[in-house]
Amino acid sequence: MAPPVVREGSDTGGPCPGDAGTAWQACAVTTHDETVIVVEDDHNISDLVAMYLRREGFRVLQADDAEHGLSYIDREHPSLLIVDIGLPGELDGLELCRLVRKTNDVPVIILTARDDEIDRVLGLELGADDYVTKPFSPRELVARVKAILRRAGTTTRAEPVTTEIGTVVVDTGRREVLCGGEVVALTTREFDLLAYLAANRGLALSRRQLLDGVWGEGWYGDERTVDVHVRQLRKKLGDELPLTTVWGVGYRLA
Ligand code: CA
Repeated sequence: MAPPVVREGSDTGGPCPGDAGTAWQACAVTTHDETVIVVEDDHNISDLVAMYLRREGFRVLQADDAEHGLSYIDREHPSLLIVDIGLPGELDGLELCRLVRKTNDVPVIILTARDDEIDRVLGLELGADDYVTKPFSPRELVARVKAILRRAGTTTRAEPVTTEIGTVVVDTGRREVLCGGEVVALTTREFDLLAYLAANRGLALSRRQLLDGVWGEGWYGDERTVDVHVRQLRKKLGDELPLTTVWGVGYRLA
């Protein structure tokens, strides 16, 4: 168990690449196995989020730039990341996300400062699992963390199934999608959405049903999230995927 480390160094907010001493504070309270890493340079927000999560028994590590966030992620094998888009230094939160995704499928919640960043967050192939727009309620953020972890814990329990939809094959055992024999890289959430649609083929599913089924019932976000993920699936799988929009309802996989 790591001892609490008090944050040192400047509060000027300037980036200090390479200077580990200023980068983060860490505090471990462990009644829980699950580690959450918060990457946010605004210490007020970071501390508040950390406090709420610790109260729920999470072990929380705080980094205030992407570089130090990355080294934490490598070392600590966290259960979840909370990443602010606006970070000092060379990498912003979106780039951090993209780097993490190359090697790791840990769930990520993005913090955005502006509403107009949301499409960018979800539209880019970052694999973020959720996003929260500032200002946000820490209580809501904690609810989302729990919903995602609950979801992550249950997806491995389901019976593996392979579904063929035309030339698209969805293999829930290997968590793999093939299109014309080629593996298509999907984010965790895109995969879960496709697997859910595949398990309910022929049914018109509302956005709410999809949110409950894929994001979990504790998730209370914007229904647009579904649309953005559907857009990504269509982009990646193209016309091979018979996924139709049912006007006034939601989506159906034929
Ligand atoms: Ca920030």
